[in-house]
Amino acid sequence: MKNYWVNKHTDTNPHNDYEVHTESCKYLPKSHKTFLGRFSNCQSAIEKALKEYSKVDGCKTCCPDCHKY
Ligand SMILES: [Zn+2]
Repeated sequence: MKNYWVNKHTDTNPHNDYEVHTESCKYLPKSHKTFLGRFSNCQSAIEKALKEYSKVDGCKTCCPDCHKY
């Protein structure tokens, strides 16, 4: 299980997505982030994020299985 966060800075990635990160990711920002919850995989974290944000993508570095764009 890992803690997942969503980055609310949508202008920091090329597709302006809300990027999902694990707690230990070096790309997780210090501010403007929202805690999603504790999940066993990134798919569950993405699912949760999609309830609040329309454009969601997994971080290429910490969530490669969920990185699409
Ligand atoms: Zn990340």
